[in-house]
Amino acid sequence: MFDKILIANRGEIALRVIRACREMGIPSVAVHSTADADAMHVRMADETICIGPASSTDSYLSIPSIISACEVTGATAIHPGYGFLSENARFVQIVEDHDLTFIGPSAEHIRTMGDKITAKETAKELGIPVVPGSEGGVATLDEAKRIGADFGYPVIIKATAGGGGRGMKVARNDSEMERAFQTARAEAKSAFGNDEVYIEKYLQKPRHIEIQVFGDGQGGGVHLGERDCSLQRRHQKVFEEAPGPSISPEERARIGEICANAVAKMGYRGAGTIEFLYEDGEFYFIEMNTRLQVEHPVTEAIFGQDLVREQIRVASGLPLSFTQDDLTINGHAIEVRINAERLPTFAPCPGTITQYHVPGGLGVRMDSALYQGYRIPPYYDSLIGKLIVHGRDRPEALARLHRALGELIVDGVDTTVPLFRALLREKDIHTGEYNIHWLEKWLEAGGLE
Ligand code: ADP
Repeated sequence: MFDKILIANRGEIALRVIRACREMGIPSVAVHSTADADAMHVRMADETICIGPASSTDSYLSIPSIISACEVTGATAIHPGYGFLSENARFVQIVEDHDLTFIGPSAEHIRTMGDKITAKETAKELGIPVVPGSEGGVATLDEAKRIGADFGYPVIIKATAGGGGRGMKVARNDSEMERAFQTARAEAKSAFGNDEVYIEKYLQKPRHIEIQVFGDGQGGGVHLGERDCSLQRRHQKVFEEAPGPSISPEERARIGEICANAVAKMGYRGAGTIEFLYEDGEFYFIEMNTRLQVEHPVTEAIFGQDLVREQIRVASGLPLSFTQDDLTINGHAIEVRINAERLPTFAPCPGTITQYHVPGGLGVRMDSALYQGYRIPPYYDSLIGKLIVHGRDRPEALARLHRALGELIVDGVDTTVPLFRALLREKDIHTGEYNIHWLEKWLEAGGLE
């Protein structure tokens, strides 16, 4: 096992990793920017080291600073969390070249899945069903229009290098295609430095269903069921649950097995998520995330497994600590993402936390790096906490969420908490009848008013 783990991240996810390290008896190192000197992850780690100024380009994204931090502190492994360098193949290569261990998959697997066209081709070869669309990249408007005609409008234009819901444009006919195609390429160029785009059939009312997988890097693989993350705003998830209210045990077993076999065949190491759109009983692959997801706690809740501990074990060369047969679902879990944002515009709202009270009781987990008096810096993501509830079934989980939101106090900044209180008054949330467009439509119709 590792002597010391450095966490190349901040906020709640850095804390999450520190907690796993502490339970495993492994010393942890927190890195931080000058803006994060007072952050909770810095207070909780065994050792800390400043790696640069507030701007993440010069701190959390600075590969030389992070490698030097390992050398200075004697850390032998790096946990990247999510975001920042977690899916950067070049970083993984450099980490390995310095005889350090990256807690995650190989650089090659990250590279394959990071390019969405290659990812889709690989998925197809591994027997995973994909969204119908262009074969590879689409370079010209004429080609784009031909694809629109072949597959039938609407279609969605997506950046090959895309991520975080950026660089996607829907076209409903030829004339919309002209604008959408140029804008998608321009956005892709400015956001990712790569203007290659591809085109997919735009599904009208799908759900976002993702399968959690784990590979041992030696030909073994398992799945830990699905999460339904259909409640999204601007392609960003805000509310996630497991199991998915629309997925039957038979469907779960079928798609789960396809995914587990795929990671086994790839020789994939560590945690991964295979994302699908799900419509009329069919699954369509959209992408694979080669890291721990923000929403992993709902899976942890229903399977009773610590996914970060498992990542660390597998990275150190140990076999998976569970087989597929060991993995059984217990109850239902829901996560809501609490952002420091002002409703109804969702504008970021950094500031100082004047009062903070965390809900408790049976089946309630709060993953957050907040504390009273903490000053949320304006430089980073607006996620400030995740409230996760677990119940024996979905109605109990929803009732618990309602109860826990009632106990939660975050004063000093605006948050997205009122959004969840309002959602819990909606019948569709209780019946589980929502798709990826539900939240946007509800917001447009004045759901928050
Ligand atoms: P990113 O990597 O930017 O998150 P994804 O490919 O994972 O992009 O897509 C993010 C979201 O965009 C999906 O969850 C879904 O809401 C929407 N989306 C993507 N592809 C399609 C499609 N073919 N049809 C309809 N919606 C889509």
